[in-house]
Parts: sequence; structure tokens; C-alpha cells
Amino acid sequence: MASCELLCVGTELLLGDILNTNARFLARELAGLGFTLHRQAVVGDNPTRLREDFLAAWERADFVFLTGGLGPTADDVTRETVCEALGLPLEERAELLESMRGFFRARGCDMPRSNARQACVPAGAVAFSGENKLGKPAGSYYFPNANGTAPGLAICVSGKCAVLLPGPPNEMEPMFLQTVRSFLSPWADGVIVSRMVRTMGIGESAMAELTADLLDVENPSVAPYAKTGESCLRVTARAKNANEAESLITPVAEEIRRRLAPYVYGMDVPNIETVLIHELSAHNKTVAAAESITGGGIAKRLTDCPGASRVLRGAVVAYCDDVKREQLGVHAKTLEEHTAVSEQTASEMARGARARFGTDFALASTGWADGENTPLHAYAAIDSEDGTYVRRIAFAGQNRLTNRLLTENAALFLLYQALNAHNSAHA
Ligand code: ATP
Ligand code: MG
Repeated sequence: MASCELLCVGTELLLGDILNTNARFLARELAGLGFTLHRQAVVGDNPTRLREDFLAAWERADFVFLTGGLGPTADDVTRETVCEALGLPLEERAELLESMRGFFRARGCDMPRSNARQACVPAGAVAFSGENKLGKPAGSYYFPNANGTAPGLAICVSGKCAVLLPGPPNEMEPMFLQTVRSFLSPWADGVIVSRMVRTMGIGESAMAELTADLLDVENPSVAPYAKTGESCLRVTARAKNANEAESLITPVAEEIRRRLAPYVYGMDVPNIETVLIHELSAHNKTVAAAESITGGGIAKRLTDCPGASRVLRGAVVAYCDDVKREQLGVHAKTLEEHTAVSEQTASEMARGARARFGTDFALASTGWADGENTPLHAYAAIDSEDGTYVRRIAFAGQNRLTNRLLTENAALFLLYQALNAHNSAHA
């Protein structure tokens, strides 16, 4: 097994201004590849200390991963420091300079001069992308950066390898997943394949109880993950190759789906809104939303997905009572008797939205996200030709964003359930 160490570079990290999410991401990914991570360290943007820490790690480990400090400014010293420590000269590459100019052109501006430094790679470095057909490579390689300007670097000498990655997670993570992982695959100990079964409407402990015996199995292992308003089970197999891993995972994933049937909304899907857009579109159904506590969040999440225009007709953010009355036809009497945060108001909002937008389904949300109104809770409602359904969501804390997200998820899951019920009734 390849041993490795991780060195995250940046004074902001040392000062606690930012959280070291690169360390978490890489630690997990490397474990998944069967690499043994022996140490993690953080060092500021200081060439002397960086050199010292890098050389110490280089002495001990087969792989040294570094993140940060590949940028264009004077405090970005990782590339120069590591190459100098290994005695490798840098050279500026015309193809990298050109692709950087293209990056800026696409954003309508000229490339600042300082960026040219990022076109420097160890002399003779070869571009690497896609699949690793090289085996365990020797020499230097660079990884194109699809989301920024600084390429990543791999420097393989004397059976060791330094891998330099950009600091910004939105550049580093896709670069790792799209190219670096495949670059490293010849050193990986077999393959590790994971599938994520995603559920809503059931808590993590209830889910764990229903699957307790599966959680004890070692290969594939099954691990619960709780996120805000959803619970996931990650099924991970270690095997000689992908086919073998797949055949270990499939029966277990199927068994989980069977046991958690009412709650599972997908496997290896990015999120529930993607599933909904796909399902609504496949069945030619439309949806609208009337949002109070979620403030447009339901519509935002649906419109984040490609294909939303085929199924989402529109949404109203009806925050004040008079807007709920005028835009959605909620009765004054309902608001007086039951208040805005009630099952009745949520139902009338959903019915009003469906009537006004002329859709097959309409969602509504209303609630108290924080403040003195106790208990803090919300209602999510759905209306369709099959009737109106409301769910109450009780909040545990005062965090507005969490409470809003919980309400969005409850509403979206109501739509998922209503759509399924509708489809099976009319199948
Ligand atoms: P840039 O081209 O943006 O300068 P860089 O490769 O030089 O990228 P840094 O300057 O070290 O990287 O960091 C840039 C930004 O990336 C930081 O401000 C921070 O937002 C984020 N970042 C850097 N390192 C980490 C880390 N370990 N975990 C999470 N975020 C990080
Ligand atoms: Mg920088």
C-alpha cells in the first residue's frame, strides 16, 4: 500500500479564517483508493517552512499531496518551492498560457500579467487527463484546471511522487475526481466502489434500526450519513475490479431499497430536485409553488436543474398575510382563525397556487423559522387532483437556514410521494 502525507498550504488556514475542507476531501478520497495517509499538516505561505515540511514528508512517504499556493500572487509559493527543493527547473508553456488567455477571454477580460507564472511547469512535464494508460508513471505531469487557471502537478522521481493541487475546493475537487484519481489508480489497492442510497422522511436512527444487520457486514460495508432533512446509506465494496465490486454491492443495495421502500428517492443521484425534474418531465406533469418560509428556495432548487422549464410553471413568494390572500386566495377568515402558520393556510396556499398556475401539482410552505414564536415549526403542503396533503415539520433549533432547508426538503419529498402515488394509481 502506498503511504502518503498531506500538506495544506495557506496562512488563512493557519489563522483559522477558513476551514480545511481540502484535508477532509483528500483524506476520504485517498482512503477510498487504498492509500494509507500517515500525516496531515498545515503550513503558512512561507517558503522556508514549506520547504522544510515538504522535504521531511518527502523523506518519509511514497506520496506527498499539497494543496494551495499555486495562484498568481506573490504569496503563492508552492510550485516554486517544491520544484526548487527537488532540483527541477520550471519552464513556461505556450499551450498553458494560451488556455489561460482563453479562460479570461471567456469571462470578457484580459489576462493579468501576474497569471503568466501559472503557465510554468517542471521542464518536460506532460499533460495528463482522462485515463491512465501509463501505468506507474515517472517524470512530471500537469493536470488541466477546468474551473480555474492554475494546473495541478505531479512530480514522480525516485519511486516517489509529489502531487500539487490548487487551493480553491471548486477547482481542486473536480480536478482530483476527473484526472488525479485516475493518475493514481495504478498504485491503488484494487478498487473501491461506493453507491449512495438516499432517503427522506425517516431519521438516521430509524433507518439504522431497519438496516442494523447490514451495517455489521464488512464487504460491502454500509455506513449511514445524516444530512439536513435526509439520511443516506453509503454501500462500499472493495474488490479486485469494478465488476466484482458491483456484484458485491447490487444485492445489498437492492435489500436496502426493499426495506426502506417508502423513503428511498434514489441511488447515486445528486439530489431530490434532480429526480423530481426527471420524473415530472417523464410523466408530462407540471408544478408550481407558493412559498412563505422557504422564500423561493423550492423554486430555486427546481430551477437549478436542467429541464426545469418543462415542468415548473412558476412560484409566488407570499411572505405577508395580504399577499397570501391576494395572490393565492387564502381566506381572511382562515388567517384570522388559524394564523398564517397552520395546516389550513398551507393547504389553501397550495390549492391557490395550483388554480392560478394551472399545474398538476402545487407545493406550499409556511412556518416560523426563528424568533419568539414557539414551538418553531412549519407546514409543507401539496395539492393535486388526488387531494391536498400537509406535513408538519418541528424544528429543533433557531437556525433559519437549517429550518428553511428542512421545510424545502419536506415539500420536495411530498411532491416525490404524490407523484409516485399518482403514477401507481394511474399505471
Ligand atoms: P488562487 O489561484 O485562488 O490563489 P491557490 O492555489 O493559490 O489558488 P490559495 O491561494 O492557497 O490557493 O487559496 C485560495 C483559496 O482557496 C483560499 O482563499 C480558500 O478560499 C481556498 N482554500 C485554500 N486551501 C484550502 C483548504 N485547505 N481547504 C479549503 N479551502 C481552501
Ligand atoms: Mg493563492
